[in-house]
Parts: sequence; C-alpha cells; structure tokens
Amino acid sequence: MHPFDDPFSLLGLNRGASLEEVKRAYRRLAMKWHPDRNATAAAESEFKRIKAAYELILDPQRYAEWSKEASAAPETPPAPPGEDLTQTLVLTLEEAALGCIKGIELARSTRCAACHGTGRVQHIHSVPCPLCNAVGRVRSEGGRSRLCEGCGGRGYLRETDCAECGGSGWRKKQRTLSVKVPSGISHGERLRLARQARHGPGGDGAAGDLYLEIRLAEHAFFELRERDLHCTVPVSIFRLLIGGKISVPTLHESVPLEVLPFPGHGLDYRLPGLGFPKRHGKVGGDLVLHLQPVYPLHVGAGERGLLERLDAALSDDPDRCAPELAAWAERLRQRQSP
Ligand SMILES: [Zn+2]
Ligand SMILES: [Zn+2]
Repeated sequence: MHPFDDPFSLLGLNRGASLEEVKRAYRRLAMKWHPDRNATAAAESEFKRIKAAYELILDPQRYAEWSKEASAAPETPPAPPGEDLTQTLVLTLEEAALGCIKGIELARSTRCAACHGTGRVQHIHSVPCPLCNAVGRVRSEGGRSRLCEGCGGRGYLRETDCAECGGSGWRKKQRTLSVKVPSGISHGERLRLARQARHGPGGDGAAGDLYLEIRLAEHAFFELRERDLHCTVPVSIFRLLIGGKISVPTLHESVPLEVLPFPGHGLDYRLPGLGFPKRHGKVGGDLVLHLQPVYPLHVGAGERGLLERLDAALSDDPDRCAPELAAWAERLRQRQSP
C-alpha cells in the first residue's frame, strides 16, 4: 500500500469509524475481492490493499505513525479515472460452457527506457545528422539546396531522436492478461476487469475498466438457441427404418443414441440437460438432435437384389406400408379410366 493512502477511505469509511464498522467493511470487501471468488485481474492487488488497510487500522502504534507521516505529506489530488475500454473476446462453445482461462493480449504504451520518455538522446561525441548525412544542406525542389533543418547546417548533432521509440518517448508493449471465464457465459455478456484499461501515451495515469464482450464462435456441430443446442445428424435411411444405436455429439464427448424405428418416432430427439449449461455449470438447456435421412448414392449389384426383394415385400401391402404410394397409384388409375 502507498504510505499515504488513507486506510479508512480504502475501506469506504470515514476516519474515526468504529471497530465494528471497520470489521464489517473489511469482511464485505474481502469477500468481494478475494482472488478465489473474483476472477478479475485486479482482484489480488485490491485484496492486498484492503487487507493492508485493515491491519494498519487495527495496529494503534502503526496507525499513529501513519497519521504523522500523512499529515506531513503534501496533498496530491487524485488522478482522474482513466477511460474504460471494451474488447471482444471470442470463445468456442466448449470454452463458454465449461469456463476457461484465457490470455488476453493488450497493447499498452510505456515510457521508453532508452530515453527515459523524453524522445531524445544526448551523445558524448557529435553524430552525423541523419537528415543531411553530415553535409549540412539538403536538396529542395528545383535542384537547389538549402540549409538542413535537422542540424541547422552544422552537419553534426549532440542530440538526436531516440532510435528505440522514434522520438515519441513511448513504446508499445504487448502484455498478456490471464482472465478466468466463468462457465455458462453467453453471447453478448460482458466481463469487467477493474482498472485494466490502461492505454497511453498518458498510460501513466489512472486506468479505466476493461470490458470483455463475449462472442461465441460458430461450432462445427451445434447451433445455440436460447440454451438448447441443436445438431443435425445424418443417418442412413435403413438405420432410420429399423432403428438401432448411432453415435451423436454432445459438448463434451460423443454418446450413443438409441434410434427408434422411424414410423414410430419421427426424426427429432431431445436429450434433457445435455445442452448449454447455466452460469457456474448448473444444468441448463437440452440437446436437440435433428436426424437427417441419407440416401445411398451408389447401389451395387449385390445390394440391388436385396433392395428389389425388399421393395417387392413392402409393395405386397401398400396400404399399410406406404399409404402415400397406394393413394398415388389410385389417383393415376382414376385419371386413366374415363
Ligand atoms: Zn526513446
Ligand atoms: Zn543535417
């Protein structure tokens, strides 16, 4: 903790709050910021600040020392809060359903170490001017030459732009933030990372909050509707006719599904609770399977015989096996007979 941060105001209290109020405020904030309960990246440092403030108040001797130092310290106005920043975070359905740890790449400007943020470097010995190559003059339009602005015609310089930062005094640094994504998070939800939106130049100041807006990537198998997962499963027409076991995907793994003979059941199956979970892994939606009949694209000579026999057998009792075909045959007959 900064030596002059007021421990009472860190706990959201006025100076001179009772011990009971201090304990209550500490318990509440500790619950909020404890890294085991709070996924945001700021949780750990915030928790430490609160704990340090609490311990300082509880120690009368240290608190007296702090008060003396604080009253001697010059008043500095608090830095204005930084701007908030929103960034998109794309998750797979599995990541969103189960929760995950994601590395977030953040660009951040820091002061250039080579020039201490000044953008300029001093040289012990003069160096050639990069604009005129030490000539002192540069060519301008029309073939005439004029005095070099970089060095004022001297050709050599004691001070140049810092090569490390191109003279800006700032360097872009990529930093990776590890974010805990809770399970069952949905499309469009936002995760708030307190005080992680530090962007500069000017990045020295107070940081705003970073919001991660969740976007769910398209999935190879599933389409999410509310919390139900819909999946189209191709199945051979023969398997559909006689029923039997097929393999279907869930978010976690493939599971067997007992298909009932088609005329009795239809093509849609609903597996309760195997859809997208609610927050914190609680059972949410269903898995809805849409079976899609697949016709063979090639029939060999051997299969042809089998199918001929099958067709003949089913044609024996068309009213029961295929009423649609029986009705069609009847319509054709009626048209032909005058
Ligand atoms: Zn520099
Ligand atoms: Zn020059």
